[in-house]
Amino acid sequence: MKSETWGHVLAELQKTVGKNNYTTWIEPLQFNELTDGVAKIQVPTTFVGNWVSRNYSDQILRHLIGAGAKVSRIEFCVAPRAEMASAPQDKPKTQRKNGAALPDEADLPGAPLDGRFTFDSFVVGKPNALAHAAARRVAEGGAVSFNPLFLYGGVGLGKTHLMHAIAWELQTRRPDLRVVYLSAEQFMYRFVQALRDKDMMAFKTLFRSVDVLMVDDVQFIAGKESTQEEFFHTFNALVDQNKQIIISADRAPGEIKDLEDRIKSRLQCGLVVDLHPTDYELRLGILQQKADYYHQQYKGLELADGVLEFLAHRITSNVRVLEGALTRLFAFASLVGREITLDLAQDCLADILKQSDRKVTVEEIQRKVSEHYNIRLSDMLGPKRVRTIARPRQIAMYLAKKLTTRSLPEIGRRFGGRDHTTVMHGVKRIEELKVDDQQMTEDLELLRRMLES
Ligand code: ADP
Ligand code: MG
Repeated sequence: MKSETWGHVLAELQKTVGKNNYTTWIEPLQFNELTDGVAKIQVPTTFVGNWVSRNYSDQILRHLIGAGAKVSRIEFCVAPRAEMASAPQDKPKTQRKNGAALPDEADLPGAPLDGRFTFDSFVVGKPNALAHAAARRVAEGGAVSFNPLFLYGGVGLGKTHLMHAIAWELQTRRPDLRVVYLSAEQFMYRFVQALRDKDMMAFKTLFRSVDVLMVDDVQFIAGKESTQEEFFHTFNALVDQNKQIIISADRAPGEIKDLEDRIKSRLQCGLVVDLHPTDYELRLGILQQKADYYHQQYKGLELADGVLEFLAHRITSNVRVLEGALTRLFAFASLVGREITLDLAQDCLADILKQSDRKVTVEEIQRKVSEHYNIRLSDMLGPKRVRTIARPRQIAMYLAKKLTTRSLPEIGRRFGGRDHTTVMHGVKRIEELKVDDQQMTEDLELLRRMLES
């Protein structure tokens, strides 16, 4: 690969990620080599590697391809210290400011913000409407109306995105405010460092000088007693001064194990809103927005009808996976110079699609089949041998064999401890009947569709 190629990537990133992000995350990277479609990039620390990989690897990949490099994947490796020419300097230690009212802006303990996580790029749907509205309200920077704002929800549903969006918005609307965003892990790290350096005063002064404090993934401090203690004091001090606090976690305050009760109840005092799992419309909306963006990046790349709908339907796990799929699809299509069709998507995303396949369980099959034939579940599992019960039982066995990866003995066990030969016989019987019995074929098809939907 030519050295201009990497230069091109850097130049493109410089345009999009913002000055601070560029200095913190991109500058320390060193391009190593490109072999067999894998670009190896050196990072100074695992932490930087993880961050860059999580937040910038899509963009880096895209720009590499845009510059003509034949690359399909990026690997980050931690370089031994001496090899890194430009390892970032540790920030000078916070000086205690005797008599000064506020610590320096530059000493604020926040983590960098991702330039892509803004309100503009956040797609609103039913599952996240409330969280979005609450975030918007806080981002106006007016009088504090609920404290804290507590956002919770599963991974990849947009908690971090919303928090960064609040921070960006506040920076424009209220540049006078000292806004700090950091993860609970970074909070702990800071705290431990302050303890080690015997510099708790500076730590306290710093955190209490903040106007808006956002702590991401607070479940991280569960079970970490002294960090919790300090967090609790910081929290109270800020609330007492009527400063806005925004917290995120992967579950509701009451459900975080090993979190002190007084903290739980403090966290519940404000507004608690959850981000629900995405629905089809939201997923499609997010895909459309991303696809528009990629369309501008990769000019001339065609996207066939139905591809986005297909992805929205099939990839239901979380938005991060959904985005990753689309990025890969565009990168791959531009590499091979083909239109993005359903076939291409199926080939290129086979692994993701397989992972997202809903797993049908034997229990679900038994339940659905009993309902369908109007028999009791206990009869399906019990010893009765009358046809009206034995036949649905065989159908359920057949479906269990076809739709799950369970072995015959395992299936037998789940059918009231039957022998595997009984299951085998049942499966065979249905296969025979299916051949001539139109009704049976239709029933099986209907059940299969219900189970797989
Ligand atoms: P969380 O912090 O809840 O685990 P993130 O905020 O990191 O999730 O979101 C994961 C990815 O999905 C990010 O790239 C984010 O931009 C994207 N994302 C999540 N929800 C939305 C949304 N409603 N609109 C646009 N992008 C979203
Ligand atoms: Mg997050």
